[in-house]
Amino acid sequence: FDVADLEREALEEGFSEEGEGPAPVVAVVGRPNVGKSTLVNRIIGRREAVVEDVPGVTRDRVAYDATWSGRRFTIVDTGGWLPDAAGLAAAIAEQARMAVDLADVVMFVVDATVGATDVDEAVVEILRRSGKPVVLVANKVDNVATESDAALLWSLGIGEPHPVSAVHGRGSGDLLDAVLEALPEQAPRERFGIEAGGPRRVALLGRPNVGKSSLLNQLAGEKRVVVDSVAGTTRDPIDEEIELGGKTWRFIDTAGIRRRHRENQGADFYATLRTQSALERAEVAVVLIDATEPLAEQDLRIISMVIESGRALVIAYNKWDLLDEERRHYLEREIDRQLHNARWAPRVNVSARTGRHMEKLVPAIETALAGWDARVPTAKLNQFFADLVSSHPHPIRGGKQPRVLFATQAGVRQPRFVLFTSGFLEEGYRRYIERRLREEFGFEGTPIAVTMKIRE
Ligand code: GDP
Ligand code: GDP
Repeated sequence: FDVADLEREALEEGFSEEGEGPAPVVAVVGRPNVGKSTLVNRIIGRREAVVEDVPGVTRDRVAYDATWSGRRFTIVDTGGWLPDAAGLAAAIAEQARMAVDLADVVMFVVDATVGATDVDEAVVEILRRSGKPVVLVANKVDNVATESDAALLWSLGIGEPHPVSAVHGRGSGDLLDAVLEALPEQAPRERFGIEAGGPRRVALLGRPNVGKSSLLNQLAGEKRVVVDSVAGTTRDPIDEEIELGGKTWRFIDTAGIRRRHRENQGADFYATLRTQSALERAEVAVVLIDATEPLAEQDLRIISMVIESGRALVIAYNKWDLLDEERRHYLEREIDRQLHNARWAPRVNVSARTGRHMEKLVPAIETALAGWDARVPTAKLNQFFADLVSSHPHPIRGGKQPRVLFATQAGVRQPRFVLFTSGFLEEGYRRYIERRLREEFGFEGTPIAVTMKIRE
């Protein structure tokens, strides 16, 4: 996979109500000393230079949030990566490939006072093959006299060289205009033909007899509206719009719940199919568990299906009215252990019969959806990883110590993270990362996906 693909996918899925998608990524590539860091500092408007005087020192931060003409983007300085590739040419080529992988637009910086070198030519080859938009920067054009140096860079064959002086700021406005022009359009938000800004979609799941239909009755009361969910098809799921806590919610495939027909043969198969298709159309699942019975294999399977589908999750223990005090205490202690792979899910103990704690359900659903929608800006995320890597580095394995070089949240709904690492991160360390991400940024009620991309 490819970060840009993930980001595109995420964009296609639509974003939180403010419409804030992940910012497009602009990567800055070029040989050492052409002025990449100076240019990045110029663009993010920071005086205190992060410019490295010591060659070969890897900086911890490589990604920064920037805005120009009201448009948000993330700028990545590939000077922060120093791959162990043999020789300068190989190292720069590797940086260029990484930049191409993660960026929507590549800024290729050449030192105009030096002119195009063989290494520059090799980078151009990589950039050209990628098909990614490239903005060519002719840096160190400090005055009019040196502008002709910039014009010579037309010979690289990747379009217009933009003369700038990163040190003095000369030409940087025009350069950023060119970058914005090269950025992809914001993708549309609608999905599944369900109108953006419509009611949020809830799937009520659970094995037979846990109380789904009772819960639906309890929630709906008189105020329910039956809506045909997939107009013009022979599929029969019918949804209901129910008003709860001052908002309208769309409960998915309530016909299936209310009909309560029990297929004799292949019941499991049909149940799984229904669950799967309800999940496809839902944003959040409320999984009901019968508190009076031991946790069943099927309960765990349904929870796993929700997690795998990447939907937000709320767990509701039903029939709480039937429990005596002793059993309640016992359960409270048991649940955490039993649901260890969904510890992050908000939990409510309810009774569909008496209506106990019904009012806690909506806040739990809202919490889960907020986690599902959440997005961490790239710069903040990389600060988090810089701190994490230094305070709790990966154990050394075979003389090497894999580290996180760069991270981006490539998607929301569910939150999806892509980590570029210098080696394979062990399971234990990945679990640690997920736990820390949750501690730091919340993500309550949502499964999060973390993918590694190894750069060696
Ligand atoms: P990087 O290795 O590509 O990140 O390059 P740096 O940003 O560290 O810059 C390398 C050197 O070039 C530093 O001494 C900078 O001060 C200098 N430099 C950067 N941009 C310009 C510029 O526009 N004009 C001039 N004259 N020098 C520059
Ligand atoms: P479904 O198959 O998941 O839709 O479950 P139903 O809603 O049909 O409920 C199955 C049985 O459990 C029915 O006899 C309900 O009356 C009963 N039931 C559901 N919820 C509760 C509850 O909270 N407390 C008690 N005591 N019984 C419940």
